[in-house]
Amino acid sequence: MLLTITTTHTPATDLGYLLHKNPERVHQVSLSAGKAVVFFPETTKNRCTAALLVELDPIGLIRGKNAGQGSPYPLDQYVNDRPYAASSFLSVAISRVFSSALHGRSRERADLVDQKLPFEVTISSLPCRGGEGFLKGLFEPLGYSVSASRLALDEKVPGWGNSPYFNVRLTGSKKLRDLLVHLNVLIPVLDNGKHYWVGDDEVEKLLQRGEGWLSDHPLVNEITNRYLKNRRNLARRALEQIIPEENPDLEEDETEKDNHEDSLEKSISLNEVRLNTVRNVLRDSGAETVVDLGCGEGKLLKLLMGVKSFKRILGMDVSLRSLDHAEKRLRIIDMPSKQHDRIELIHGSLTYRDKRIEGVDAAAVVEVIEHLDPNRLAAFERILFGFSKPETVVVTTPNREYNQKFENLPPGKYRHRDHRFEWTRQEFSDWAMGTANEYGYRVTISPVGPLDDAFGAPTQMGVFERCS
Ligand code: SAH
Repeated sequence: MLLTITTTHTPATDLGYLLHKNPERVHQVSLSAGKAVVFFPETTKNRCTAALLVELDPIGLIRGKNAGQGSPYPLDQYVNDRPYAASSFLSVAISRVFSSALHGRSRERADLVDQKLPFEVTISSLPCRGGEGFLKGLFEPLGYSVSASRLALDEKVPGWGNSPYFNVRLTGSKKLRDLLVHLNVLIPVLDNGKHYWVGDDEVEKLLQRGEGWLSDHPLVNEITNRYLKNRRNLARRALEQIIPEENPDLEEDETEKDNHEDSLEKSISLNEVRLNTVRNVLRDSGAETVVDLGCGEGKLLKLLMGVKSFKRILGMDVSLRSLDHAEKRLRIIDMPSKQHDRIELIHGSLTYRDKRIEGVDAAAVVEVIEHLDPNRLAAFERILFGFSKPETVVVTTPNREYNQKFENLPPGKYRHRDHRFEWTRQEFSDWAMGTANEYGYRVTISPVGPLDDAFGAPTQMGVFERCS
């Protein structure tokens, strides 16, 4: 499996900084069933190419937990195209090897992350089930020029005809992050074979990676179905989030998993202080309906249930596993119907417009915005402050200046692996004021947690009140 990414941006060697890989070296990463190697066959000022080579270990694959389960054809496990075809394995390798770039992070070239650069991508032996038309249908609406040459099944036996594999070349001016996301999602869609991943967090992955492009893609249904291996329940649930208006009343009927990261803040029980503070603000706002956006495992929801004046309490999260935990923590199933009727957990993303959260009196967004890609913040603002328009919105986020007080946190690191940014007090205040002005709110900012003279408090909170 070979993928190459070339840029002619000058200096082209910036590609190394953007991919977090030194072009002078060969980088090797172990995968569960093989290895990925990144090297730079071409590194001039005008043209630089990064190559990702994935070598699967066919025997390792068979021994792996996902191997050929239930296959009626035992030989399938030994004789198949997996070691050669650009498939979901390549996709997994992209997310493992280029993880920082995929999340739009570059320490040395932060200014280039949001710039469109000229790219040329080649993918060898890409199985295009659905043919060249489907390949073009996937990439052209995203602004790529596509050329593809189909490979013969066996060059020496022309009578056997064509294979489903193509050597593919894509060109376009793109942000590197977008390019990697498109490849990551669409390569397995083209393959449509057995996907490598068997984790149950595909819906979340697709929602996160599809942000900003998937909902407008003409093949959104096809992409979603194929990405989710044609598992209808998953696909329906994803589509419900991607295009909520078109699929209003679908029910949740599966349990999913997601990775939850523990926060180092727990040691000082800052979380409790924060949640109690937010509960009090919401209680004093006079709200009767309230939504906790990014409710996680439902700790705030539990506190909110104790406030009698809340008649309707919604908890929304993109992670189904968190929602599962929340359901258990709150023991919703055992609640008397009067309590049961007050609360609802919904699966959704803050960055997709969602009718279910329109018209609520108040919203809490506690330690969530820093999990959003900076380029999705504007969408979040529009959806919450522009469409949903609660009278009161409480937003909390870490104060980066305070990080120096955490002994276990190396300098320059964020508090969570998944944080996309952490703001200083000035940065938060700029964002909060700007957003309040744009959408007709007043905002008051206050510190939460122990106050340090020099660095402020660990958490910063903005309370937004709608002006009219
Ligand atoms: N508010 C909770 C959890 C904070 S952790 C608390 O303070 O304890 C951040 C949560 O945001 C996680 O549960 C994560 O799944 C959720 N999240 C991240 N991105 C999201 C998005 N785009 N839409 C909705 N929830 C999101």
